[in-house]
This record gives sequence, structure tokens and C-alpha cells, in this order.
Amino acid sequence: MIPSSASDSIETEVQFLKGVGPKWANVLAKLGLRTVRDVLFHFPRRYEDRTNLPPIRDLEPGQHATIRGRILAIDARPTRGRRGMVLLSVTIHDGTGSVVLQWFNQPWLRRRFEEATKDVIAYGFVKKGNRGLEMNTPEVEFFEGEDEIAEFAKITPVYSLSEGVPQWLVRKAAHAALDRYVSGIEDPLPTDFRREHKLQPLVWALRNIHLPESESARASARKRLVFEEFFYNQVAIQMRRRESQQEMGISFPISQIAGVDHSAPGLFGSEAALKPDESLWDEVHRLLPFSLTGAQRRVIDEIWRDMERPSPMNRLVQGDVGSGKTAVAAAAMLAAVRCGYQAALMAPTEILAEQHYINLHNLFDRIGLKTELLVSKLKVRDKRRAQLRASAGESSIFVGTTSLIQDSVGFHKLGLVVIDEQHRFGVMQRAALRQKGTNPDVLVMTATPIPRTLTMTLFGDLDLSIIDELPPGRKPIRTHWKLPNERAQVLSAVRKLLDEGRQAYFVCPMISDSDKMEVQAAVDLHYRLVNEDFPDKRVGLLHGAMKPVEKEEIMLAFRAGELDILVSTVVIEVGVDVPNASVMVIEDANRFGLAQLHQLRGRVGRGEHQSFCILMGSPTNDEARARLTTMTETTDGFKIAEVDLRLRGPGEVAGTKQSGNLDLKLADLVQDSKLLETAREAAIQLLDEDPQLERPEHQAILRRAKESRLDLALVTIS
Ligand code: ADP
Ligand code: MG
Repeated sequence: MIPSSASDSIETEVQFLKGVGPKWANVLAKLGLRTVRDVLFHFPRRYEDRTNLPPIRDLEPGQHATIRGRILAIDARPTRGRRGMVLLSVTIHDGTGSVVLQWFNQPWLRRRFEEATKDVIAYGFVKKGNRGLEMNTPEVEFFEGEDEIAEFAKITPVYSLSEGVPQWLVRKAAHAALDRYVSGIEDPLPTDFRREHKLQPLVWALRNIHLPESESARASARKRLVFEEFFYNQVAIQMRRRESQQEMGISFPISQIAGVDHSAPGLFGSEAALKPDESLWDEVHRLLPFSLTGAQRRVIDEIWRDMERPSPMNRLVQGDVGSGKTAVAAAAMLAAVRCGYQAALMAPTEILAEQHYINLHNLFDRIGLKTELLVSKLKVRDKRRAQLRASAGESSIFVGTTSLIQDSVGFHKLGLVVIDEQHRFGVMQRAALRQKGTNPDVLVMTATPIPRTLTMTLFGDLDLSIIDELPPGRKPIRTHWKLPNERAQVLSAVRKLLDEGRQAYFVCPMISDSDKMEVQAAVDLHYRLVNEDFPDKRVGLLHGAMKPVEKEEIMLAFRAGELDILVSTVVIEVGVDVPNASVMVIEDANRFGLAQLHQLRGRVGRGEHQSFCILMGSPTNDEARARLTTMTETTDGFKIAEVDLRLRGPGEVAGTKQSGNLDLKLADLVQDSKLLETAREAAIQLLDEDPQLERPEHQAILRRAKESRLDLALVTIS
């Protein structure tokens, strides 16, 4: 064996790989492959098992297949119609039958076929054409010598390519890189660690991901590499968690509240009066007009325990729409106030902030606590007054939008921050709000059902509480999918509900990239409902081009029951609570994403009445059909999120495509969720053994975790 030297470094430029050279190096650069490392980590997109090729006779149209055979005929002729286009047809025969391969405008390929002396392999989609079986623009390879044919009967990697990069070149580069350089590569995972977690060495994994000896070798290689894609990220997350647990925050003396006489005038004056011998739980029960669900009680308990600890709380509360997150937030805020601190709730929009303000005001008013609203549209004077009450500590509960984190707002003693609908806030805004207090506790609430696997990769630094139970007496929303020609039937069903005193939402189609058209669609639908379908009913209109004040007026009128029908674009998606609205008709529902449909549907089913969601639309593709079917089959937000992840892929679900955080080459968050769990446990165990990763054998892991942490800072959920 030749000892490895500096010239064998995997940072070597690809031009020095055997059989590549400067000219082909420029071609590989089109794929971003500049060094040997790049080549080794450019994994195959799929494989062809050529150990067993079907004879052409057995090919069936409608499938992808690989064939091998001799060239029988080559034909190139101008196409009819389009000038300058040449159709190349090559007939391949293997003794059992023949296939015609076709390409447009590839003169070099024609030459290549004319020069070919040996067998040809082609991979492509088989269809039935005028001249029997055909493949359009298949991938082809040419054999030069006998040894290549011997090499051929293998599991062969197929790489992603871009324009002008031939498959054989990437294969050749990968071969050469494996031959000469791979053994010099350092394995960041120490031997003992690998043994413990049953992971193959890196060198072995790289060999077998490119040139698998067998299907099971490929699977083990993949497992090792997928584990790594998760692992460094999990180490970074766990390190960050441990750091924040070291920080000093507020230790709310919650368990001492019970039995203490709070009636003495304190920071918040007589408002804080609490009967002696009343525990915080009793007061929560007095605060709320209903009894808590078991899940709400459990989550409140988790939050309070966190608040008692000296390290700052960083907790994510996930609960499906309607699961009662507001009550949980209120209980947390009450605890902070009773411990002598201020609490603030931040919402993503003014409508939502006001909705929260009304709800919290109604609750806290019962026990004599004042709630302040802080949003940008307040009159200057009112705003200043609220700000003064914040800084002087005269008020203890605040609700607002990002106005809360403006520089002009200073709090006297901010102890708890609740952020609703996390997905609209970035990490930076969270940080800004924290700086308003002295390391306040942070509670993040989200109704966006994020699959557990995604939560673990994106929010692993947050503790997680799940409200997995709906308040009792809720009747599950009945969802129906109707075709456009069933419209009359839908309208008469809606009319029946309206006649019973219920209210209805009509949601207009989402028209991507055109707010103007979206508004127009809403205006048109409104016109039609007013003039044709429901002339006797009161129909309101809400869309994005309206002023905030106008929107609010309409919302208030609908909530007050002064409107029977609300026609709206997706602006109602977030958080509006009208329990008497028991039916929602979603127009062109096939244009909406699954998560969005679920959020929209959550606007009904909030009262005692049986609610309905009607999805109108005739989808044109399988994915849209799958979305609508899923909606009719389940109301479980987490199940829906899993399907959504499967249909759309992780980057789009989380809105992190650009952040670089989810740079997963091989891993699949749905399919590999077990392995993610394993990686997380391995990270925790590693840090238990070596908290700072100081041991020499952990330096490579530390380095990679730091890199992954840089990416983590960029994550926002949109
Ligand atoms: P979300 O989790 O979507 O924010 P909300 O907090 O707005 O849910 O609660 C939805 C509705 O359910 C509200 O009308 C609220 O008053 C009611 N609610 C919440 N918790 C309970 C409960 N334990 N029992 C009965 N109704 C409840
Ligand atoms: Mg809510």
C-alpha cells in the first residue's frame, strides 16, 4: 500500500483525479464538484441493478427499464413542423427484441453511435410508439472493451447531473476518488462510538454509497451517512440547550404562593389582592369560565415547574387550533404576575393581538387585573400612556404585536413573554423581546402542527409541551369535498344552517403571486352571494387590500352576529374566534396547501354546534386530490402535518429552504425519523459523558457541531 501523503488530500482539485484532467474538471464544476471531497459527497440519486437485466422481449410500456444490446440502425432526419430540429432514432436489439431510442438535436450523440463498436446500455421510460417500443431521451452508455462489460453486471450508481455533464464522467471521478483518496479521509466518529451505535466506518460507507457491494451494504452505508446528517445538528442543539440552562434567569416562587396573604399592597397595588389560603390553581379555576382539560392542566404544570427553575424557560407549546392555548397562556401570565412580575403576550397581527386582548381582558377582569393593549395603530397619546404604565410597573399584563419590542417600550419588571403563532417570528425577534427584561422566561405557542421530527431539528433547543386533547363537547368538524357542479346543493345546505341562526365563512381561492386578482375574486364572490344566492342575508367582505380599521370593523360585526356570511380571502386564516360560525365553504380548495386548509378549517367548530367544512374544487393532479381526501378523512393536525411533509418535503413545510439549516442530502425526515431519534439520543449521551467535547477524540465532532450551529441561527419558520 502506498502511504498517503499531502498530495492524497481530499481537498485535491478534481483535475488531478485519474482520467479527469483540466478540461473535464471544468465540466464537473458545473455540478459544483471542485475537490475530491465534493465528488465523494455527491451521492448517487439512484441505482440500477444491472446484475439482472430484463430481455427486451419482457419490457412493458409504462415503466422505467435498463436494457443492453447492439445497434441495429441509426437514423437522423429533420422533424416535420419545427425547422432546424433533427430527430435521432437508434434501434437497439438484444436477440429477443428491439427498442427505438430517440433524441432531438444531439449531433454529437449520433457520431458517438456511429463510432460505437460494442454494446450499448440505455435507461429510460418505455412507451409504445409508432415503431414498437420506444424510449425518449434515455440515458446511454457505450462499451469500449471487454473488461468493461465484465464490470458491467453490478449495482451501478446514477448521479444527478446538470446540462452538459455526462453520467460516465461523474462515475469515473467517483471511481478515481474512491481508489486513491478515500482511505485518507478522517472519520469524525470515534471507533467506540461507532461500535456502540452500530455505524459503519466513514470510508466503508463512502465506498458503498457509490459502489455498493450489495443492497444491504448500500443500506448500511446510507444509515451511517444519514445518521451523520442529523447528528452534528443534534449535538449543536443539545449544546445550546445546556448553555441556556446554565444562564441565570428568574426563579418564580410559584409554590410559595399558596397560603400566603397577598392582600398587602404590593407592586401592583390592590389589584394583587388574593384571598389568603388560595393556591394559584384555585385562582386559575376562578379565572376561567370552564374547567381545564387534562392536557391543559398537564401543560400548565410543566410551565410552572419551568418558571420555578432559575434557568430561563424556553418552551414551545403545540396545540391544534381550538385546543385552548389561550387559557394556558393566561395561567402562565397569572403566575408571573402573582410573583411580582409583568407578563407580555406578542401576536403576529393586530387582529390577533386584539382578539387576545379581548379574551385576556375578559378573563383577568374577573379577578381585578388590568390588561393593556399595545399596537401601532393606537393614538399617540394612548400609546404613550400604555408605555408609561409598562415602565412604571403600574400594569402587569400586556398584549401587542411587534410594537411591544420597539425601542420606546421599556418594562419595569418583565418576567414572562408569551409568543403566539411562533412561525411568524424569527429567532432575532425572540431575542429582542428577551432583552426587554432581564432574561425573562419565554413561552412560544404554535397552532401550526409541526411534525415531531421537524420540531426536533428546528426547535430542539426548546422544551416541548403538547396539548393533545380538545375541550369536551366539541363535535368533530364534518368535512366534505364537492365538485363545482354540486354547488346548488352546497348553497342550500348553507342556507339551512343560516336559517337556524348560524353564520358562514366563504373563503376565496388563493391566487398565487397576485394580490390584485385575489381581491378581485373576493369582490366577485361577494357580489354574487349578495345579488344571486343570498339576497336576503347580510353578507360582509374582508380582503387584504382593505385598511386595518375596515378589516377590524367587519370582523367585529361578524363576531357580534351582525353579518350572516363573511366572504374573505385567506386573511382569516389566523386565530379569529367566532363560535357561532359553523360552516366554512372553501372555494377552489385544491389551490390551498394542506396545512393552510387545516388552519382555515379551525375557524369553525369552536362552539357547541355541529360544524361543517366544504371543500369546493376539481383538482387536476394527484397531489391536490390527496390533500382534499386527507382533509375529509382526518381532523388531526399532526396527522395532517405528516402527510403535508410527505407531499411537500421539509424545506417548504418549515419555510427554511433558503436557511441552509436543513441541508439534508440523503436523509428524509419522514422515512428516517427513527434515525433522527437515535441521533438525538446519541448526542445527549455524548454530552453527558463529555459536556464541552474536550476530549481529543471528540474534536472533529465539535468542529462539525459548530458549523451546524451557525446555520441554526438563521432558522425562522414562516
Ligand atoms: P387555540 O388553541 O386555537 O388558541 P383558544 O384558546 O382560542 O384555542 O380556545 C378555543 C375555544 O375553546 C375558546 O372559545 C375557549 O374559550 C374554549 N376553551 C378553551 N379551553 C376550554 C376548556 N377546557 N373547556 C371548554 N372550552 C374551552
Ligand atoms: Mg390561539
